[in-house]
Amino acid sequence: SGNGPSSSAGKPIRLESVGKLFGNSRAVDDVSIDIPAGSFTVLLGPSGCGKSTTLRMIAGLEGTDEGQILIGDQDVTDKASSKRDISMVFQSYALFPHLSVAENIIFGLKVRKVPAAERHAKLIQVADLLGLSELLERKPGQLSGGQQQRVALGRAIVGEKPVCLMDEPLSNLDAKLRHEMRVELRALQQRLGFTMVYVTHDQVEAITMADQVVLLNGGRLEQAAAPRELYERPATTFAAKFIGTPPMNLVPVSAVASADGLFADLLFGVRPEALFLADDGVLCGPVLAVEYLGSDTLVDCDLAGSVLQARLPGSKAIAIGEVLRFGVSPDDLHVFDTSTGSRRD
Ligand code: ATP
Repeated sequence: SGNGPSSSAGKPIRLESVGKLFGNSRAVDDVSIDIPAGSFTVLLGPSGCGKSTTLRMIAGLEGTDEGQILIGDQDVTDKASSKRDISMVFQSYALFPHLSVAENIIFGLKVRKVPAAERHAKLIQVADLLGLSELLERKPGQLSGGQQQRVALGRAIVGEKPVCLMDEPLSNLDAKLRHEMRVELRALQQRLGFTMVYVTHDQVEAITMADQVVLLNGGRLEQAAAPRELYERPATTFAAKFIGTPPMNLVPVSAVASADGLFADLLFGVRPEALFLADDGVLCGPVLAVEYLGSDTLVDCDLAGSVLQARLPGSKAIAIGEVLRFGVSPDDLHVFDTSTGSRRD
């Protein structure tokens, strides 16, 4: 429908206990993920956590050492990349510099021997969809970063594959363009209906685009959840710290309650933005540092030797050394096991 390529129904993807070893080191360890058809799933985590390796195993660019990968109802674990019916976009767009924009976009169709008239029709549709119609005769070297990015996207979507895999495709763009492309990419994916698996280390990118965020840590699955659930109910202290800026405060219960053995192995988690000033507040301490941000002020307080960070309205002037009392709604309190890092409630 519309003026885009006919929407290709996405296929679901499943990883079952997938593992990858590089020498003796486990880059990916017992990872199971369910990626619903037509969803936008983001693989998120710090550098070296195994995001790219996981994506490359789904793509078939990297073999798996353990487990299975299914695309649709097919086990593709031992299938060549070219047989997996996927498209890919990488950080380096890898456009052919000597080919025009038009030739770059239809390159894959040509390889697959799609007839010229059909190639042309698809090119016109995709160029129109991505705002590239005026640029088709140019070479990549004559394009801005954002335009090159669009060409790489065009090349990926013109084949109407049910699955698209992207590895940090926006990281070469400046902040403004990155924001625009995020919105465009999400809209495009929803409109065309393919299944997207997208790698980033940027939590904002993950939260704003994903239906599902898969958080990896040291090759292991930390949590897979919708963005809101990841923020509101982090399953582990790692997830609690990774999502949200500034990160969630994690305070030993002994710093708040009288330290008796019963509570000694628990951590209270409270996000800086969940704290508010209250005369009868239970958490209190002298202010160590103040960072005025205009709309907000970040305040560090000493809480029995721990630092508690609060995000308060910028309108309230706060002085170093002042003793503040904070309230927090019970809904905004998280409880974790100190030794395992797992959520308790
Ligand atoms: P980044 O965000 O930095 O790209 P990542 O989360 O994508 O990181 P991977 O690239 O998947 O992480 O790497 C996971 C681990 O596997 C890292 O410790 C990395 O050094 C290691 N690794 C990746 N590729 C290879 C390889 N070809 N040979 C040996 N080790 C590798």
